[in-house]
Amino acid sequence: MTSSNQGEADIADVLRKSIGSPGVLTDGDVHARSCDPLRSVPVPARVIARPANTEEVAEVFRLCTQRNQTVVVHGGRTGVSGGAYCRDTDIIVSLERMTGIEDICTVGQTAVVQAGVTIEALQAAAREKGLFYPIDLGSKGSATVGGTIATNAGGNRVIRWGMTRQNVLGLEAVLPDGTVVSSMNRLLKNNTGYDLKHLFIGSEGTLGVVTRAVVKLVPMPTSQSVAFVAVSNYERVTELLARARQLPTLSAFEVMWSDFYTLIASHVSEPPIAPGQPFYILVEALGYNKDIDEAMFVAFLEAALESGLIVDAVLATSDRQREDLWRIREGSEVIVREMSPFLSFDVSIEIPRVDAYLAEVRASLLGRFPQARTVTFGHLGDNNIHIGVTIGRETLACGNEIEKIVYDALPSYGGAITAEHGIGQFKREFLAQQKSPAEMDLMRRLRDVLDPSRLLNRDVLC
Ligand SMILES: Cc1cc2nc3c(=O)[nH]c(=O)nc-3n(C[C@H](O)[C@H](O)[C@H](O)COP(=O)(O)OP(=O)(O)OC[C@H]3O[C@@H](n4cnc5c(N)ncnc54)[C@H](O)[C@@H]3O)c2cc1C
Repeated sequence: MTSSNQGEADIADVLRKSIGSPGVLTDGDVHARSCDPLRSVPVPARVIARPANTEEVAEVFRLCTQRNQTVVVHGGRTGVSGGAYCRDTDIIVSLERMTGIEDICTVGQTAVVQAGVTIEALQAAAREKGLFYPIDLGSKGSATVGGTIATNAGGNRVIRWGMTRQNVLGLEAVLPDGTVVSSMNRLLKNNTGYDLKHLFIGSEGTLGVVTRAVVKLVPMPTSQSVAFVAVSNYERVTELLARARQLPTLSAFEVMWSDFYTLIASHVSEPPIAPGQPFYILVEALGYNKDIDEAMFVAFLEAALESGLIVDAVLATSDRQREDLWRIREGSEVIVREMSPFLSFDVSIEIPRVDAYLAEVRASLLGRFPQARTVTFGHLGDNNIHIGVTIGRETLACGNEIEKIVYDALPSYGGAITAEHGIGQFKREFLAQQKSPAEMDLMRRLRDVLDPSRLLNRDVLC
C-alpha cells in the first residue's frame, strides 16, 4: 500500500468510526462523480464524507482540523465557477444526506431546512402549503439550499424577489474548527447585533459550511403570463424593460441576443418566432388575480406593439406553451451539445451600456480568433448577462486569453466579472482587478480568523 493509499485508508476509517459506513464513500464511488455540471471532470478526492446532521458535520471538521486535512464542500455540484473542484489530497464533505425539510410555517411564510435539500424539493414542499420559494434556476433539480446560499445564487426571478441573500432569514454554519454557529433567525426584523448570516451568504464555502437555513417564502402565484417577443434594437429593449417594470406582477425579463436564439431555434421543431431579429425577450408576470393580471399583461403587450417597441410577439395560452417558451430560454443542453468546448461568462454591466460592451467584446474576440462563436443571453433587468464563447477545439487552451478579452473590457463599462456564479477557482486571478487592496486584505483577514490553516475550500475565492 502506498503512503497516499495508507492516508486514504486512515481518514476513511476514522470517518467511518465517527459517522458510520453509509456516511463514507471511497474509490470508484468518489471518482465516478463530476466536479463540473457542464463537462465531465472526475472528482479526484480521497474520500467523500456524507454527514447526516450538523453534529456529524462538526465532528468531521474537528477530525480534519486535528489532522490538518483539507476539505472541499459539495452541494449539488451545479456551480459553474469551479468551486466544487478539488485536489487528490482533499476530502469532500457532501451535504447530500442532509435533505430534511423541518418546518414550513404558513403564517410566517418561512421554511426551515437542512442545507442539502434541493431547490426543487423545497419548492415542491412549499407548493403543498400554497407557498413558493422564489429562488428559481435552471439547475434547481440538483442545486441545494446550502450551495445557493454559499454562492448567493440569483436565477430567473431576481427582478421580483431578489437574490438568495434577500431570501434567507437565518442559518446555521459549522466553522472549519468544528464550532457550530446557529443563527436560525425567523424574524423579518431583527437588529440584535451583527447579522452573521451575511458572513456566509456568498462566501463560497470559505468561512464555514452551511448546514441549515431559514428561508422566506411567498404566496404561490395563481396566475402566470408568459410572452416571447422580438425587438429590433437595444434602445427598444431597454424601453420595453422600463415599461415592463411598471407591471407590479413582473417576474422575469430574459433577453436573448440573436446569436443565442438562432442556435436554439435551429433545434426547435416550431420556433415561436422566426429568427432574424437582433433581440428576443421572454417576459413573465406572476400574480394572484388571473383576470386582472392577464388583462394588465395583454394591455402591456398591445401598447408595446402599437408603439413599435415590439416587432413580433407570441403570448402563451396554456401551461404547455409557457413551459415551451421557458425551455427555449433554458437552452443549456443545446449550448453544451453545440458549443462544447466553450467558456461561460456571467458578467454584470450597467443596463444602458450592455450592448456596447458586448459589441466591443465580440469585435475583440473576432479580431483575435476569427472563428469565435458566441451565445449571449441573460437576466437584463438584473444587469446580468451570460456569454458562451467557443473558438473550437482550442477553446480551453486559449481560455486565459479569451477571459482577458471578456474581463479587460469591463472596467470602462462599470462592470463586474461575476453577477451570480461567484469567483470559485476559475475567476480567482481576476478578483484583484475588481476589488481594492483594502477589500482584498479585509477578505483575507476574515478568512484568517475563521480558517487560519486554509483547510476549507482552499483554492476558492481570495
Ligand atoms: C443549467 C444551469 C443553470 C444555472 N442557472 C443559474 C442561475 O440562473 N443563477 C445562478 O446563480 N446560478 C445558476 N447556476 C449555477 C449553480 O446552479 C449555482 O451556483 C448553485 O447555487 C450551486 O449550488 P450547488 O448546490 O450545486 O453547489 P455546488 O456546485 O456543489 O457548490 C458551489 C460552491 O458552494 C460551496 N458549497 C456548496 N454547498 C455548501 C454549503 N452547504 N456550505 C458552504 N459552502 C457550500 C461549494 O464548496 C462551492 O464552492 C446554473 C447552473 C447550471 C448547470
